[in-house]
Amino acid sequence: MLRRRTRVFLGVSAFLAVVDISFVALNQQASLRALEDALERRGQAAMRTFRVGMALSEDNMLQMATFVSHDPHVRTLFRQGAEAVEAEGGGAGGPRAQHYRRALYDQVYRSWSELTDLFGFRQLHFHLPPGSTSFLRVHRPDKFGDSMHDLRHTVVTVNAEQEPVTGFETGRVYSGLRGVTPVYAPIDDGDQTFVGALEAGISFQRLLDRLQPRISGEAAVLLGEGHVRSSMWPEAIRRHFGADQPQHGYYLEAATRDGFLELTGRLQPELAAAGKRTRLLRNTAQGAVAVTHAPLYDFLGQQGGELPPVGRLVIAQDASEAVTEFNLTQRRNIAFAIATFILFEILLYIGIRRLSRRLEDEVDERTREVHDLNQRLRDQATRDTLTGLANRRHFMERLAEEIARARRAGHALSLAIADVDHFKQINDEYGHVAGDAALRTLAAVLERHQRVSDLPARYGGEEFTILMPETDLTGAETAMEDLRQRVEGTAVDRPEEGPIHQTISVGVAALQSGDTADTLIQRADAALYRAKRTGRNRVISEG
Ligand code: GH3
Ligand code: MG
Ligand code: MG
Repeated sequence: MLRRRTRVFLGVSAFLAVVDISFVALNQQASLRALEDALERRGQAAMRTFRVGMALSEDNMLQMATFVSHDPHVRTLFRQGAEAVEAEGGGAGGPRAQHYRRALYDQVYRSWSELTDLFGFRQLHFHLPPGSTSFLRVHRPDKFGDSMHDLRHTVVTVNAEQEPVTGFETGRVYSGLRGVTPVYAPIDDGDQTFVGALEAGISFQRLLDRLQPRISGEAAVLLGEGHVRSSMWPEAIRRHFGADQPQHGYYLEAATRDGFLELTGRLQPELAAAGKRTRLLRNTAQGAVAVTHAPLYDFLGQQGGELPPVGRLVIAQDASEAVTEFNLTQRRNIAFAIATFILFEILLYIGIRRLSRRLEDEVDERTREVHDLNQRLRDQATRDTLTGLANRRHFMERLAEEIARARRAGHALSLAIADVDHFKQINDEYGHVAGDAALRTLAAVLERHQRVSDLPARYGGEEFTILMPETDLTGAETAMEDLRQRVEGTAVDRPEEGPIHQTISVGVAALQSGDTADTLIQRADAALYRAKRTGRNRVISEG
C-alpha cells in the first residue's frame, strides 16, 4: 500500500515537474519575444528618424544650391567659364577658363566657408554638361576638369533633364547627401540659357551629429568596400578613412561616437541574417545593446531597378534596462513556478495520504465485518439457536476433550442429563410458543447458576447436558440438586397469560476408568431414566 502510494506520488510529481518546466520554457520564450519586439519597435522608430533626417538634409542641400545659383554674378561667371572651356577644347579648359573659375571661386568662397562653418556644409560643385565634367569644386579648387559620367548620376540626370534632384551619392572625394539644381544664365536678349549643374552636399557625419540626441542611441553609416573603391580617388580614400581598414567588407563612413567599429565588427552575422532588423547583443563592452540595421541605397539605387544597397545604416541603442527588466521577469517566473510546484506537491501529498487513509479505513472495516461474520458462523456452528447454549455437536467435541484432559491430569469429571418433566403437557396446554419460552427460561437458569468451567448444552428437544470438569459425583449431585430447585422455583414469565411452572429430572454420572463419551452418556441417561421412573423432579446419581 505504502509503496504504491509513493509510486503514485512520484509519478504525478514527475508529470507536474514536466508541466511546470514546459510552462517556464514557454513563458521565457514569450517574454524574450516581447523584449525583442519592443526593441525592434524602438529601433525602427529611430531608423525612421534617421531617414527623415536624410531627406531633410538633402532638401536643405537643394535649397542651398538653388539659392547660390540665383546670384546673377554666379550665373554669369559660370556661363563665361563654360564658354571658355568649350572654346579651349573642353575638359579643364585653358587659361581663360581658369580665369573665370578663379573669379567664380572668389565670388562664392567667402559665403560658402561661412555656411560651412555654421552648418557643416561640405561641398559646392559646379558641373558642366553633357554628363558631368567638373568645372569648380569650391571645397577642393585645385581639382577640376575630370569627367564623372559613370559616377555622378545626380549630376548627369540634372544636366540631361534640367530638373533638380536630391539623393545620397559617393563621389570622387567623399560620400554625401546632395541637392543638385540646374543653373541658367541670362543672355543678351533677356532670355536665359542652361549652363550646367550646381551641387551642394553635406556629409553623413554632420547629419549624425545632429541626429544623435533625437534617436536615443548611437548611429553609424557603413559603406561597402567595393562601392567606395570604385567611386573615390585612392588619395581621397586614404584621407577620409585614414588607417581604418574595412571590416567585414564595410568602411565606417560616419558614426556618432568613437569605437563604433568594435560594435559593428560583431554585426557581420546580424547583417547577413534576413528577417528581423533588430538584434539584441547582450554582452558588448557597452553592456546589452540593441542593434538595428537597414540597407542604404544611393541615388541610382533609389531610382528603382535591381541595384544592391551600397551600404548600411546602423543604430545601436542601450538595452540594459530592458534586459534587466527581462531578467527580473524570468527570475520571477521561475520563482512562481517553483512555488506552485511545491504547493501542488503539498496538495498532492495531502490528497494521496487522505485517499489512502480512507482506503485503509475501508479495508479495516471490511476486515472487521469479515471477522464478525466468521464469529457468527462459528457461533452458528456451535450454538443452539433457540436457547443460545452450546449445541449437541459442540458438547460432544468438548466432552471428548474434557475426558482426555481429566485422564491426563487425573481429575474427576461428571456429566448430568436434565429432562423437562411432562413437557408434552406444557406444549399441549399452553402451545409451542410457550414451550419454547419455557426452554429459554430453563437455559437461562442453567447458564446463570453453573460454574464458569461447567458447560451446559442443549442435547436435543427438552433435554440438556451439563459437563462438569474437575467435579466428582457428589459435587455434581449437589450442584444438580441446586439446579433442580432453582428450576422448580423459577416460573416461565408470561406477562399476558400468567406464569408456567416446570420441573426437571436429572441423571448424574462420573467418569470412570475405561469410560468413553458414549458409556458416560449412557450411564447418565440410565440415571435420568430412574429419576423419571421414581417420580420425576429429582436428581439421581448412577450406581
Ligand atoms: P417426561 O419426559 O416427563 O416423561 O414427559 P414428556 O412429556 O417430557 O415426554 P417426552 O420426552 O416424550 O416429550 C418431549 C416433548 O417435548 C415432545 C416434543 O413435542 C416436545 N419438544 C421437543 N423439543 C421441543 C422444542 O424445541 N419446543 C417445544 N415447544 N417442544 C419440544
Ligand atoms: Mg425427553
Ligand atoms: Mg421430558
